[in-house]
Amino acid sequence: MPMFNISTTYNYSCLISGKKVKFRAWTTKEEKNYLILRESSNLSNESLFNTLIAPCLEDNTIELDENERQYLLVKIREISIGETFPIKFICDKCKEVNEQDVELEKAVHFSGNSYGNIEEGDYIFNIGKPTEKALLRLNSEEAKASKIERAFINFVISTKEVTYKGSKNNTFNYQELYEFVEGLPNDVFKSLYEKFSKVTSSLSIHCEVNCINCDHEKKLTFKDIPNFLWQ
Ligand SMILES: [Zn+2]
Repeated sequence: MPMFNISTTYNYSCLISGKKVKFRAWTTKEEKNYLILRESSNLSNESLFNTLIAPCLEDNTIELDENERQYLLVKIREISIGETFPIKFICDKCKEVNEQDVELEKAVHFSGNSYGNIEEGDYIFNIGKPTEKALLRLNSEEAKASKIERAFINFVISTKEVTYKGSKNNTFNYQELYEFVEGLPNDVFKSLYEKFSKVTSSLSIHCEVNCINCDHEKKLTFKDIPNFLWQ
């Protein structure tokens, strides 16, 4: 029996790729579980999701891709820990050591999915969400070893249907499609990939900050948000 009858309310929400997601802030339990997980140095995307995101969602069966999950993690962090994160940098002009707080909203750039057709010349590719099984291909040795290969595989597993000179095919297997995409003229693939990047979700972390001493601007890009969680 709980000591008190405190009901859980999911009083925050955000729109992710057109889906309304309701969530709550972290409690001591999530913080503790995260710190335990970090101790075991077992920080896979999957374990982070299960520890820090899924317990906070009203509907944790909602389908979210890697970027959508990352964005949601930022949203939960904003309400749980704060809307800013501390950074330290040296000004390129006056060499002043700057310590500043940056707003997550200004640094985290996210855009959701808008799946559909992309086309170039004789080719139309229908792009959609990869199946859970297909996503496992992103964990393969080849995909882990190379960003280029990973991007290529992501393109292949997101392709649902291909139309070439008016004739449609959606019965191919992975290997057939992989070889077909490899065989595309490189300018066609380049153009298709650019269009692909616009219909799939993206998340990047970058911001411009000004030196506190001389106001000189510095552009900062991060792979992960520094000091994002409990230290
Ligand atoms: Zn400066």
